[in-house]
Amino acid sequence: MSYPALRPLGGLLLALTVSQAALAAEPVARQTSNPYYVSGLTTLGKALALRPNTGKAKNVILFVGDGMGISTMVAARIHEGQSRGVDGVSNSLSFETLPYLALSKTYSDDTMVTDSAASASAMLTGVKTRNGTMGVDGTVIPDDCPSIAESTITTLAEMAKAKGRWTGAVTTTRITHATPASTYAHVANRDWEGDQNMSAKAKAAGCKDIARQLVEAPNTTRLNVAMGGGRSRFQPKDQGGNRADGRDLFQTWLAKSGPRTAAVMTVSELKSLDPAKVDHVLGLFGPENLPYEADRATQGADVPTLTQMATTAVDILSKNPKGYFLMVEGGRIDMGSHAGNAYRALTETEEFSKAIAAVMAKVDMKNTLIIVTADHSHGLVISGYAGRNDPILGLAADEDTGGLAKDKKPYAILSYATGPGGADGENHREDLSSVDTKAPSFTQQATVPMFSAAHSGEDVAIFAGGPQAHLFQGVVEQSYIYQVMRHALGL
Ligand SMILES: [Zn+2]
Repeated sequence: MSYPALRPLGGLLLALTVSQAALAAEPVARQTSNPYYVSGLTTLGKALALRPNTGKAKNVILFVGDGMGISTMVAARIHEGQSRGVDGVSNSLSFETLPYLALSKTYSDDTMVTDSAASASAMLTGVKTRNGTMGVDGTVIPDDCPSIAESTITTLAEMAKAKGRWTGAVTTTRITHATPASTYAHVANRDWEGDQNMSAKAKAAGCKDIARQLVEAPNTTRLNVAMGGGRSRFQPKDQGGNRADGRDLFQTWLAKSGPRTAAVMTVSELKSLDPAKVDHVLGLFGPENLPYEADRATQGADVPTLTQMATTAVDILSKNPKGYFLMVEGGRIDMGSHAGNAYRALTETEEFSKAIAAVMAKVDMKNTLIIVTADHSHGLVISGYAGRNDPILGLAADEDTGGLAKDKKPYAILSYATGPGGADGENHREDLSSVDTKAPSFTQQATVPMFSAAHSGEDVAIFAGGPQAHLFQGVVEQSYIYQVMRHALGL
């Protein structure tokens, strides 16, 4: 079609110019009835109607998807939709409905790519610290017990408890693992989970293992609710645990926490708890990390889901008229990715999303600040030009290349930068033509072979809703999350 202005045709030129101008100035009918267009208008309407809630938060719930980088979240969104038989790419996870968003810079005080101890500690103390340490500032000397005395700082949970809030930590990992422990522990080595994990030197210098720090904390700062795995750090050997000092930390917990307290080890015991009658609950549902959701059928007998633990925690904590602070971790998203196993990383993310939905349905978002973020990302990549509805765990089908890479072999949509699926030494990349890449046990291919995939260092998302959630905007330091939580709670 030639451009009308080039035609010297008087009146016709004018008419054509006007219609062209009209076409350029207004969207046409086929455009405005397009579903993307309509959905964009709905989103715009919501954004225009959004008013920040500038009130104080009675409660704050911090959800941490361990290792839930943006690509993991997107792949889980697609997988969750496809598993339900709906359009995966336009599907949304529960927390995507939260109205405010920021990006979080996750580097630690000493490394470009953080570990989970330093990153959780940044969120819970407002101060970045060295990898492998928590509840301390960057002056700590890793693995050096005496250096804790000078470097210890207060966690948000400790401060909230001391000022009248109730507090809790819920996770699918050991309760002594980096993220949950960052709510209550102060250590120079994140591995000091039980006394059996500490060096003789650290013990001789008087440092307490993480499990003891949890149960022996004074009433003024001790968590009300601690749920997850990791029983082996709390029980002596004759009770099935691994403690070298013979202590039974369940007894310590029960003795310290007064009459309205409970210790539970199975989902049946958890369900039989009356949240109205207990103010302190230690729930450890396995000796180590809790099983992956993908393994629930074979390993999950009598183990609660993250959703069950998180909602019970809310029921217990919400009895306090002064409110509460709760940290909920989807802890094994990260472990699925360390194993190069996208299936488990995604299905753990999906359970994390379910837990958030269940909690959001329970709380009053007018007085509860909900934050959903990750401590760091993983090197998961969604790549190649698969068709919109191709299974996310399947092969990329690139039209130009017939879905083949330069080595004439197909490749999966999901792969990792590093990890156990990397081609090693003499071994070239495996030909996936006859491999079931959708099998739950499939290990994604990786660029660099490593026994365990490395974390990655790009920013992660922070989603937020409720009082003061509007303070999450732009690109912020991970340690800023603490400032918003503290401000929202009025601490
Ligand atoms: Zn990790």
